[in-house]
Amino acid sequence: MAALTDRLDHLLGDRAANSLAQEFGLSTVADLLRHYPNRHATRGHALAEEAPENGAHITIVGTVAAAELRPMRQRKGYLLKVRVDTGSRQVDITFFNGHKVKHAIKVGDHAMFSGTVKYFRDSWSLNHPGYLVLPNVLADPELTESLPVGPPKAGGDLKAMARSAPGAAPGLDLSIFDRPLIPVYPATSRIESWDIVRCVRQVLDQLDPIEDPLPARLRRDRALLDLDTALRSIHFPERLDDVECARARLKFDEAAALQLVLAQRRRENSDRTAPACAPRADGVAADFERALPFRLTAGQTTVAAEIGADLARTHPMSRLLQGEVGSGKTIVALRAMLQVVDAGRQCALLAPTEVLAAQHYRSIRRMLGPLGRAGELDSAPNATQVVQLSGSMGTPARRAALLAAVSGTAGIVIGTHALIQDAVEFADLGLVVVDEQHRFGVEQRDALRAKARGGTTPHLLVMTATPIPRTIAMTTLGDLETSTLTELPAGRSPITTRVVAARVRPQWVERAWVRITEEVAAGRQAYVVCSRIGDGDGKDGAEKKSETPDTHAVLDVYEELRQGPLHDLRVGLLHGRQPAEEKDAAMRAFTAGELDVLVCTTVVEVGVDVPNATVMAIMDADRFGVSQLHQLRGRIGRGTHPGLCLLITEVAPDGATMTRLEAVAATTDGFELALLDLRTRREGDVLGAAQSGTGGGLRLLSLLDDLEVITAAQQFARAIVDTDPGLSAHPGLAGMMTSALDARRLEFLAKS
Ligand code: ADP
Ligand code: MG
Repeated sequence: MAALTDRLDHLLGDRAANSLAQEFGLSTVADLLRHYPNRHATRGHALAEEAPENGAHITIVGTVAAAELRPMRQRKGYLLKVRVDTGSRQVDITFFNGHKVKHAIKVGDHAMFSGTVKYFRDSWSLNHPGYLVLPNVLADPELTESLPVGPPKAGGDLKAMARSAPGAAPGLDLSIFDRPLIPVYPATSRIESWDIVRCVRQVLDQLDPIEDPLPARLRRDRALLDLDTALRSIHFPERLDDVECARARLKFDEAAALQLVLAQRRRENSDRTAPACAPRADGVAADFERALPFRLTAGQTTVAAEIGADLARTHPMSRLLQGEVGSGKTIVALRAMLQVVDAGRQCALLAPTEVLAAQHYRSIRRMLGPLGRAGELDSAPNATQVVQLSGSMGTPARRAALLAAVSGTAGIVIGTHALIQDAVEFADLGLVVVDEQHRFGVEQRDALRAKARGGTTPHLLVMTATPIPRTIAMTTLGDLETSTLTELPAGRSPITTRVVAARVRPQWVERAWVRITEEVAAGRQAYVVCSRIGDGDGKDGAEKKSETPDTHAVLDVYEELRQGPLHDLRVGLLHGRQPAEEKDAAMRAFTAGELDVLVCTTVVEVGVDVPNATVMAIMDADRFGVSQLHQLRGRIGRGTHPGLCLLITEVAPDGATMTRLEAVAATTDGFELALLDLRTRREGDVLGAAQSGTGGGLRLLSLLDDLEVITAAQQFARAIVDTDPGLSAHPGLAGMMTSALDARRLEFLAKS
């Protein structure tokens, strides 16, 4: 008898086990049983994939509607042209050894075919597929009892597989296909769907009943099947309903495994102690609030209060602050930092790029005014010191900044993740603020915790402008509490976005430059964003991908605009491979209004805040993801003047890419776009890889659509972990957690 952890080679023999391992990375019984069928074939239902991709390996089941021998044109011999009716469509199949196959495949036969999809114009066919003629009893359930199962009529690798099975009777027992629903598996030409059917059948026949890791009460409450039944019936259901029930159960397991990991992480966090930072009525935070030139929005006030209360506790805060670009997260974070400073402790503010760190430094200094100039001549009585750590700093400046951090005179230390993680010692770190969480993972968070004093853990506030849909937040960041800023400060102007189809309407591109000139004449500024640098040296990962010659390089565009359509304007250049001083100088000049137009790469993507900039032209907009475009566009419309974003693209006007760009143009709702982004980009790659994936990952659970399941699983996981943090009383759950998924993988979702 067999258990879930048993190795497949012991049960199936080396040959089958090797194929399963090589093609799908399956090595244990559990692996194989979680290689779920794509679908189940029945008579009279949709059996063929909807419009499969050219080159895909697919399996279909159907009835042979026609089979006709035709002489080959070029040489001797006959083709067998077969037409298979799958119930939903007719599929054409061609066999090259017609005379041989014609004896096996007859009109009226019920058979499975597996092969590679080949398109000719709009229609596709399978050429010379493997096949398996199914017992005809399927067609007539009444005959099931009486008909003996004949020798298999099959072609392709099937015969070899059948022969290689240890202890297999000569021929193949086709009775496993004698069922109303035949599982159709993800398969390859080396291991066909029907091979997998046989392997799964063999494993299930030997499998001892599985003990269910989920408490009976939970199963009853959620009407979940037991695990043993679920695993059996997802492969060999009696009715399609069985598949649904099985999937519901197995999906819950995936969600539960994920949430257990997160619940443990959360629990670990709450076991830590943090420096309590009670608010003070007479401190720098209060002074700052009084001096603010505007009123906080209702959302900012609520969130600031939540954070303020968290900071006063002795448990470390772990909070995600999400809000649209321009919703005013920085003020909220600054207010939190000042509360910590008032408690005599320090804060670190981490930005993803040097440009952004420098900008944070400048804008925080500006917002604080005399309150941020401790040690300088014009400082306010309550003032604190704000220091910046940057890679381009000279040694003396750097040494002074490090000293300010370690001695405790600096209340706020600003830098990039890398800088702060490596170099700095703090006298008493109370709060870490991370801007743009999607580039920041758990490991980094943990590294920072090590910076606190005497075994305490600093409070943590992470901010993101890429709104994370609730399901994703719950699964990838389930150990963080979330606060959301939904409204923009009053007086913001709308951004209009237009797609400029450069190929069809080149004159619109000219119009874009005219438009920029007009805006500049009206006193505004503009960005022109390019997808690559163009110096041929694609060092920096993000840019290398798009380093393709058919797109506009920032260096070329800069020269062309400066000498051509924008020659009357003051045009600056900013990209990731300039020396830090050059970047800084460009950004500074643009902020100060000394440049009219900034031609740049995505270094301006996050956080850059120049309210006077009102136009953005994005070259080769199709090269950017949906969220990235939304981020970029967030750089304009930050002041009182309406913004205009031009998505310039050469893609065909009727393709999927154009549809995506038009979707970006149609809405400025970041949540909607984040979902669209996840569907088009991430479900495609990250989730796709994890879902079809080998060794762990999600197969049934959709992080986008299964909110209810994820919520229930979270509740369950938190309750369990609260009473049994190490899961020592729940070994089944502990096992489920480690086997069912690889949580690390999901971190991809939270990063960009
Ligand atoms: P983001 O959420 O994108 O980080 P910021 O914090 O950079 O947004 O804020 C964008 C701009 O809005 C800044 O110039 C900031 O000073 C301003 N701002 C923030 N809150 C308010 C408010 N309540 N009223 C008016 N302006 C605000
Ligand atoms: Mg910001």
